Order: sequence, then structure tokens, then C-alpha cells
Amino acid sequence: MPVTVGVLALQGAFIEHVQLLKKAAEQEALSDWEFIEVRTPQELDRCDGLVLPGGESTTMSLVAARSKLLEPLRDFVKVHRKPTWGTCAGLILLAESANKTKKGGQELIGGLDVRVNRNHFGRQTESFQGPLELPFLGEDAPPFPAVFIRAPIVECILPHQEGIQVKEAEREDTVIAPSRKVKDLVAEAATADHVEVLATLSGAAARSATQGRDINPDSEVGDVVAVRQGNVFGTSFHPELTGDARIHAWWLHQVQAAVNRRKKLGQ
Ligand code: GLN
Repeated sequence: MPVTVGVLALQGAFIEHVQLLKKAAEQEALSDWEFIEVRTPQELDRCDGLVLPGGESTTMSLVAARSKLLEPLRDFVKVHRKPTWGTCAGLILLAESANKTKKGGQELIGGLDVRVNRNHFGRQTESFQGPLELPFLGEDAPPFPAVFIRAPIVECILPHQEGIQVKEAEREDTVIAPSRKVKDLVAEAATADHVEVLATLSGAAARSATQGRDINPDSEVGDVVAVRQGNVFGTSFHPELTGDARIHAWWLHQVQAAVNRRKKLGQ
């Protein structure tokens, strides 16, 4: 049986993800893998792992609801806890809480106990590219060419809760994801209470300094732009818009490990 990885193909940069996943699989000599575009619940059912691309999160969630995919997506991520990676708009959909979003205007999938701030960098610097240190790719890995387009950042890591993020629900212009219970032991093994920060964008300290604010360089860690919680992974930037397949390769190994765990536990 091949390992099947899907890319949600309702809107946004899905073709680029499929191409880079294929390139990564080739580089890593991962044979017997297939990469599919996902537009229906049946296609999602076939997947061992899923990528949610960048694009426009409000549109993506609307189209997902119309395509009857929203609940199956929540099942995939939060009930079965299968490996899922969201880039940019995809990260927004995977957050349990998102700012700058009108209530009723957007539905989140959830899975990451974080609050994201949409369009964080404002109008002046909506889009930019820069070298980003990604220690999870290896100690000596050269910086990654990170592309940020009207990107969100993770502005707050939330305490893990069994139900919904109650406090977040009280905030203005903030939407939260509905809660779902994990299905079984396999799903439980893929769950974590703790959100790991995998990358930060340095420069927050410099920005504060130019605004005349006091900074403490030791505690100023910068904007959080990559996180992981169990099987759920999110990046603010768009690795699919570069030719660099290193993150895709790293993530495919995470998917492989999850598939192996599932097999071992006999499901
Ligand atoms: N700003 C977009 C949103 O809120 C995300 C942008 C992107 O995916 N490049 O959905």
C-alpha cells in the first residue's frame, strides 16, 4: 500500500506544494508514495497526511464548508490526529484561535493551541523574503529562503484544554475552533499538550528599538513563525514558493513515522 499525502486543493498555492512534495520524495528516495489533490471527503479519506496551502483562509474555509469538507477536515486533524501541515493561510485554519477575523466570517479547523495574528506585518511590509534559521533541519543547515506574503504569526501559545478555548472566545474580532475528542489510542499517541516553537523570525527586537521602546535582547525571541504540536505542524511562510524542498522532505519523514506508529498499534 502506498503512503498517500494530500494537498487541499480548494484555493491557493496547492500545485506548488504537490510539485515540491514530489521533488522531496525523489530526493529522499521515498518510493511507493502518492501525492493527490484533495477536493472531496472521499479523497481526504485516502490520505495518510495532509497539507493545507497558503492562499486566503476566509475563502478556503468558505469553500471547504460548501464542499462538505470542513467537518471531515476537523475529523482528520483533531479526531484521528493524522499528520497535517498548514502554510500561511493553512496555519491560520489550524489555529485554535485567530485574530482580525469577524465572528461568523470564518471557520477554523484547529489542532494547534495557538492564537495567530492574521496579516501581522501590516501594509508596508505585507510581503518579503529573508533567510530564516530552521534548527529542526539540522544544526548546520544553511538558512531557509522564507517567503512571507500577508503572513500571520503565532502571537500567543495557549494552554491546552479539553474543550474549546473559552477565554479566547471572549475576545473581540477573534474566532476559535470547535472542540473535538481524539478517537482512539493511535490518535492519542499523536497528540501533545505542548506546542513546540520550531522557528522565530529575528528582527522583533530591532523593530522595537526603532520605535523607541526598551528592549531586552535576552528575552526578545522574535516572532514565532513555525510551530508543532504532536502531529500538527504550521509555518507562517511559504516553502512551496521556493525550489527548496528541505522542509517538505523533513515533513515526509514525520508522515512516515506516523504511518509506522499507526501500523505498529495495529490500525
Ligand atoms: N493573509 C491571508 C489570510 O488571512 C494569508 C496569506 C497567505 O496565505 N499568503 O488568509
